[in-house]
Amino acid sequence: MVRIAVPVPLPGLFDYLVPGDAPAAVGVRVLLRFGRRPLVGVITACDVSPAIERSRLRPIERCLDESPLFDEPSLRLLRWTARYYHHPIGETIATALPAALRRADKANIDTRHRGWQAITTADAPATDLARAPRQREIYAALVEAGQAVAHGTLLARFPTATRPLTALAERGLIEAVDLPGGLEYGQAGTPLTLTDDQSRALAELRAAKGFAPALVEGVTGSGKTELYLQRMADALDAGQQCLFLAPEIGLTPQLIARIRARFAVAIGVLHSARSDGERAAVWRAAAQGEADIVIGTRSAIFTPMPRLGLIIIDEEHDGSYKQGDGLRYHARDVATKRAHDAGIPVILGSATPALETLHNARQARFAHVRLARRATGAALPRIKVIDIRSRPLDGGLSQPLIERIRPHLEAGNQVMIFINRRGFSPALACHDCGWIAPCERCDAPMTAHAGATRLICHHCGAAHGAPAACEACGSQTLVALGAGTQRVAGALRSHFPDVAIARFDRDAMARKGRLEAQLADAAAGTTQLLVGTQMLAKGHDFARLTCVGVLDVDGGLFSADFRATEHMAQIVTQVAGRAGRAERPGEVWLQTRNPEHPLLQRLLTQGYDGFAEAALAERESTALPPYGHLALLRAEALDNEPPHEFLAAAARLVPQGEALACWGPVPAPMARRAGRFRAQLLIHAARRALLHPVLDHWQQALPELPNARLVRWSIDVDPQDLL
Ligand code: ADP
Ligand code: ZN
Ligand code: ZN
Repeated sequence: MVRIAVPVPLPGLFDYLVPGDAPAAVGVRVLLRFGRRPLVGVITACDVSPAIERSRLRPIERCLDESPLFDEPSLRLLRWTARYYHHPIGETIATALPAALRRADKANIDTRHRGWQAITTADAPATDLARAPRQREIYAALVEAGQAVAHGTLLARFPTATRPLTALAERGLIEAVDLPGGLEYGQAGTPLTLTDDQSRALAELRAAKGFAPALVEGVTGSGKTELYLQRMADALDAGQQCLFLAPEIGLTPQLIARIRARFAVAIGVLHSARSDGERAAVWRAAAQGEADIVIGTRSAIFTPMPRLGLIIIDEEHDGSYKQGDGLRYHARDVATKRAHDAGIPVILGSATPALETLHNARQARFAHVRLARRATGAALPRIKVIDIRSRPLDGGLSQPLIERIRPHLEAGNQVMIFINRRGFSPALACHDCGWIAPCERCDAPMTAHAGATRLICHHCGAAHGAPAACEACGSQTLVALGAGTQRVAGALRSHFPDVAIARFDRDAMARKGRLEAQLADAAAGTTQLLVGTQMLAKGHDFARLTCVGVLDVDGGLFSADFRATEHMAQIVTQVAGRAGRAERPGEVWLQTRNPEHPLLQRLLTQGYDGFAEAALAERESTALPPYGHLALLRAEALDNEPPHEFLAAAARLVPQGEALACWGPVPAPMARRAGRFRAQLLIHAARRALLHPVLDHWQQALPELPNARLVRWSIDVDPQDLL
């Protein structure tokens, strides 16, 4: 009799019988039937007395693991996550599992990979191999590695290695070995000599023992990564594992290469570019304690690591740490809980910390470690505004901005133009009557692409050719309003025809490997003008970059989302940090129609710190996070009424008082999306403790509401995005 977390949208656990010889244990995956569906569940308790009559219990089909995949601390973290985010435990555990280990059809993939290692390291073989240069080269590489190297890694380096490897094995010089799949071995490298600032920061980080959350706030280029590396060295020396989280885009080859060039240990990377099989292999190797370092994005926070000694969250302010659907967890908050339970340090690093994190640091819940100067001594760029009121824009660019870019390009330096909108233009409009080409299924205009010949909805993916005439008045004068990356790139091309331009956005990066290739060209200085979205804002180091233009800060100043100004300030500061990283000083220009906006002024005159102080004061006066606590109940349906009725009924279940209030129901800011009507209800609590009883009650009661079957609903605790 075991109790199992089954990945279904129902709260609670399910009891099953196990055949006597099955290796059932807590943390083992099992294949079972739920109704008729085959599913993969995870055992959470053994030898329980059944919650239902024994005769009604069904047996599992089989156990999928010989030994537990989840250890007790991991399961405890997942139970906490399920409770905190009010999400079914079975689905929560399924979210933690890599896709390949969650599938009922191919649940037992082979995650071990073949590798090779040198048997002898004597010099003698060199003469044997005198006439086989290929074999000699590969053999030398294996001797140099001093340990087993994955077959795939060798192939990447020596594309024709397969036959020489077999030949070397036949000569008895090397042997095939089984490797924990997906891991790679780094090389020992020498740490940098720390600056005084960094030494002080490292000492502060080392001083704390046990559970020790620390915010490392350091301007871009201040040497945060070097600090992380030296803290990782501490943990590795103590025989512990390290978990390093970065945003998807921050998971650049540069970061991985730096870690790999420092530590001669087993490193696993959990990256969306990896195959399901590879990810499952890395995950399992980490769970078995074979990976010393795991580098990954959001979901890597759930990777079981029995010897975990340190968690690092780089760019902790990044929005990608919050999952937007299903289990809506925030990896930073889960990480803090995990570190707490394990009694280990967690480092949150950023040049532009989230206001929540800054608040925690100000309340002394987190240590606050600062790096105020760039490690290389380079000056931080000046940020200045270009007032574009009543100025014509050409592809989003004002004439003054173009004139400011020119001398940088003529001097052979690089320029980056940032605009957080992909496509050609955000709307196609009729010049005569003002009609705007809408998405049929969303309350949003279609985005024009490819020189306004194609229209694509960025919300539901609908796509078709641009109409030849206005659908309201028949006029054939249709104009593209505003600019996205494609249009900006086109305008730049016409102004600077001899300059190599690269565009960085999701469309341009659709092909695998393209981002890496373009980043390499940009780092080498082959491309001089870089145009892009957020993708350009993070983690990249371009030595020749001396000028940055930001085209659209105004969107962030006037938005329905109370976090928009924070995001604007973060992006401006991050892109500005790209400029003048080496010996060349940098300058940053913001185009705006609101140069006097108080928060923008704060940012310009006092930097991110000054901005954050003002923004926190504003949050405090409105009791918004981190001073108040929010949960959002979303509902959507094919008809307009059911979501509103459902939410109104949900609101009636909330005991309202001074410290607890329901805001809504109201239509979502985008009231229709992909053909479904959407509404939401926000609850606001002065204290977090008031929120959870309401959500517990909702989780039980909402499925029973009269309209529950007509709507799709979800609870979002600590919502980041109110859209
Ligand atoms: P951040 O992570 O804060 O952006 P990095 O650790 O990437 O900063 O450091 C920025 C640059 O400064 C890198 O090129 C890095 O090699 C260099 N750097 C960092 N620390 C030192 C140091 N102590 N001495 C010399 N160079 C350093
Ligand atoms: Zn018209
Ligand atoms: Zn749409």
